[in-house]
Amino acid sequence: MVGSRRLEGAVRVPSILISGASIAGPALAHWLGARGWATTVVERFDRVRDEGQNIDVRGVGREVLRRMGVEEAVRAEHTTELGLRFVDERGAAVAEFPAAQGDGRDSATAELEILRGRLSAVLHAHTPGTEYVFGDQITSLDQDEDGVTAGFASGGRRRFDVVAIAEGLHSRTRRLAFPGDHVRELDMYAAYLTIPRTADDDRWWYWHQCGRRRSAMLRPDNLGTTRAMLFFLSETRGLDDLDPSARTHVLRRTFADARWEVPRILDALDSAPTYFESVGQARLPRWSDNRVVLVGDAAHCASPISGMSTTLALTGAYVLGNELATAPDHRTALANYERLLRPFVDRAQKLPPGTPRLANPQGRRELTALRGALRLVAGVQRFAPSLPAATPADKFTLPDYPAA
Ligand SMILES: Cc1cc2nc3c(=O)[nH]c(=O)nc-3n(C[C@H](O)[C@H](O)[C@H](O)COP(=O)(O)OP(=O)(O)OC[C@H]3O[C@@H](n4cnc5c(N)ncnc54)[C@H](O)[C@@H]3O)c2cc1C
Repeated sequence: MVGSRRLEGAVRVPSILISGASIAGPALAHWLGARGWATTVVERFDRVRDEGQNIDVRGVGREVLRRMGVEEAVRAEHTTELGLRFVDERGAAVAEFPAAQGDGRDSATAELEILRGRLSAVLHAHTPGTEYVFGDQITSLDQDEDGVTAGFASGGRRRFDVVAIAEGLHSRTRRLAFPGDHVRELDMYAAYLTIPRTADDDRWWYWHQCGRRRSAMLRPDNLGTTRAMLFFLSETRGLDDLDPSARTHVLRRTFADARWEVPRILDALDSAPTYFESVGQARLPRWSDNRVVLVGDAAHCASPISGMSTTLALTGAYVLGNELATAPDHRTALANYERLLRPFVDRAQKLPPGTPRLANPQGRRELTALRGALRLVAGVQRFAPSLPAATPADKFTLPDYPAA
């Protein structure tokens, strides 16, 4: 086991510092905490963040939640969405894809759907033995053969056996151990908003393609509000670095002529909790450097378009945690982690050709062709239980490890 040594009969407890308290971070803390490691999570924000929208946990990700013992808690937070409906500028349905029937337990294609913030809260609550440090971040990492010394923005320095970076796609700490730019941009921005629910909002996910490579969506949640999303394609870099008022200005100008519910979404921009990101994938030739390792989106974000990032994060945390706890040393553990997970990640990161342009048409001709294709697929799928997963979440068998 990594870092444990017998000293005069006592076993030293191995320790890990995990940076990022969203999904991958707390999940990794769970697996190592369960095996007796001292786990510390540092989060840049002053709390567990609750922004974001409905995320899917598919296939093997569900199995990880089951093995963690939180599947029921996650199921209780289900957003109860009925399915996906594409609509035109007047709100008329173009095509409809109902969600899988049943409770999802027995169906390979069924999805467990939860708000990202609620999943994060469930995982946080499930790691009571973990030390959480909010409102701080790593500023330096010095590693040697025996451990890693982390420096913090708050001024302190602490020593750990291993440091895991779970900071998401645009991780800053990643640069300390993996210099260079590892984000493959998809030339797309996404704004996720929480807006007041109106009497007309129901339990469907609505997607309106606005033309000029823009989309708007409305989705139900289980908290009495509505989740709105604005997507637009742009090759301009750095819009995600703008301050909130400049960002709001860009969104208002970009969607000024869009119809359907877009004016309502734009009206809410000043007061709605919003998460804004440039959409991309993390592509790195390796996920560890000696005792520093990447996990979740920081290692292998597949983008929201894939619908797989959360499943990959949960699966990666399971494999990494159990390898670190059971392999003879950290080098073997980190090599196994990468060897086991890499083929699954490679498959999940392969997006359908033409993504994301095809789903966000430019002009009327493209829009008409897309709507025709959607109607056709919906017609065929009326006889099938659900829209199939875009990526093969069931094509990974979780390794089994000796009981803790
Ligand atoms: C606020 C938010 C909203 C999201 N909304 C959606 C959504 O609506 N749809 C979707 O498909 N995906 C969304 N995602 C991404 C989704 O959560 C991930 O793709 C997936 O769940 C894998 O999670 P992760 O834990 O690896 O990374 P992330 O979920 O990206 O979490 C990274 C965490 O690290 C923290 N962090 C970042 N930098 C530092 C630092 N320097 N020091 C310490 N902590 C740091 C962040 O605050 C965050 O808590 C969202 C992510 C976040 C953070």
